[in-house]
Amino acid sequence: RVKAKGKNGYCFFNTEMQERAFRRVEIEQSLRVALDTNQLFLVYQPQVDNQGNCLGAEALVRWTHPDKGVLSPIEFISIAEECGLIIELGTWVIDAACAQFKTWSDNGNHLKKISVNVSPKQFRDINFVNIVRDAIKKHQINPKRLILEITEGIVIKDISDTIDKMTVLKSLGVRLSIDDFGTGYSSLRYLKELPLDQLKIDQSFVRDIINQPKDAMIVTTIISIANNLELNVIAEGVENKEQVTMLIDKGCMQFQGYYFSKPKTAADFTQYLEEQAIDNVHQFGIKPSTN
Ligand code: C2E
Ligand code: MG
Ligand code: MG
Ligand code: MG
Repeated sequence: RVKAKGKNGYCFFNTEMQERAFRRVEIEQSLRVALDTNQLFLVYQPQVDNQGNCLGAEALVRWTHPDKGVLSPIEFISIAEECGLIIELGTWVIDAACAQFKTWSDNGNHLKKISVNVSPKQFRDINFVNIVRDAIKKHQINPKRLILEITEGIVIKDISDTIDKMTVLKSLGVRLSIDDFGTGYSSLRYLKELPLDQLKIDQSFVRDIINQPKDAMIVTTIISIANNLELNVIAEGVENKEQVTMLIDKGCMQFQGYYFSKPKTAADFTQYLEEQAIDNVHQFGIKPSTN
């Protein structure tokens, strides 16, 4: 809602705005406590191939708030960005995701990749490269297994800084993906200049791919750009078999979405990996989620 301006130019905040401002301060204060007392945890959403076999996972943060229960990142990531806590939060996420990846490898569950979201402020932080390097070293993970998901918003800020930082990150061996591809300020030139490995098709294009010819055409174009630039392409927000069939038909062979699985706790993900390993001995074909 728009701020109502009074005669003298004073702003009269309505209750809704006041509540929102209050909630922000409240979240900010309790987020500090959350970081110090381990209230954050990661869930993992499978990324699968065209047979439904698990290739990897995207780590997604959750917060067990003492009064409000489990909060979604939508409720606190942008606040963390604004108040600067995103650096500490993001560092924790990278470390925790690498630790979990290492645990899975040690137990014989060899994922091809683990994806982690990186916010713009976190990416631009001068220590970011060191933080990534430290996590890789500490947990002894193969850097090429770690995918950093960044959004297009990072790119437009300063293209030459972005190229420099990405180049250093690539020299560590990690891989870089553009998240929510097509929803930001996309420029075809940055695709040429940045050392990228993957495009992730935003779920807003996948959602109506069956019924909206324009969405289908956008997806076709993204897949063709990715294939021509030799970038990996993955679709997110895949919710039904028709979408999978159409995406495969268009040349996209990697998927993430509720059709295959919702994000899982580490324990549930481990169980899922073990069930997949058994299943693979007996059957092939697309395996939809059982939840
Ligand atoms: P994202 O990186 O684009 O992640 C995909 C989001 O879509 C996740 O929401 C996921 O649970 C949801 N999703 C997956 N499949 C489906 C589907 O089939 N249908 C629908 N409707 N949704 C699906 P989530 O976990 O709530 O995360 C929301 C956003 O919060 C993420 O979007 C990402 O931008 C941000 N986020 C999550 N974890 C982190 C983190 O550790 N650090 C940072 N900086 N951002 C994070
Ligand atoms: Mg993501
Ligand atoms: Mg995304
Ligand atoms: Mg998204």
